[in-house]
Amino acid sequence: MEDDIKFMKKALIEAKKAYKREEVPVGAVLVLNGQIIARGYNQTEGRSDPTQHAEIICLQKASKKLKNWRLLQATLYSTLEPCSMCAGALLQARVARLVWGAPDKRCGANGSFVNLFSLKHPFHQIVITSGVLEQECSEIMIHFFKQRREENHGKCF
Ligand SMILES: [Zn+2]
Repeated sequence: MEDDIKFMKKALIEAKKAYKREEVPVGAVLVLNGQIIARGYNQTEGRSDPTQHAEIICLQKASKKLKNWRLLQATLYSTLEPCSMCAGALLQARVARLVWGAPDKRCGANGSFVNLFSLKHPFHQIVITSGVLEQECSEIMIHFFKQRREENHGKCF
């Protein structure tokens, strides 16, 4: 879908904000009725908090804005395949649709590591599109970790 690319580009802008702050560059936007209602980027380092993933930040901001934790008609765009924590939060928030960019082989919860969306959930089913702007979304991660390795003289992350 044309809009998927448009909104994934916005999520990539968020990922770049994370990159600039030396955070693992993952970005997300939450879209409702064709409008972005929340943006977020990974801030686990800056906030010293393992739950501060881009997707969680988006859900928190959107729920606050709408004064409603149920985000029934919303679509979440994330540059990276969500981890199991974020997948759980997306199910809790009843997000209608998830669109993600690059697979996360280590932590991805949509098939790369586990698949929390594969079972038919009793009351909620998320429609998923994967691999949107996959190359751009992967490249920013690859570049980030390459740079970090160089700066740390091969120290492993
Ligand atoms: Zn996550």
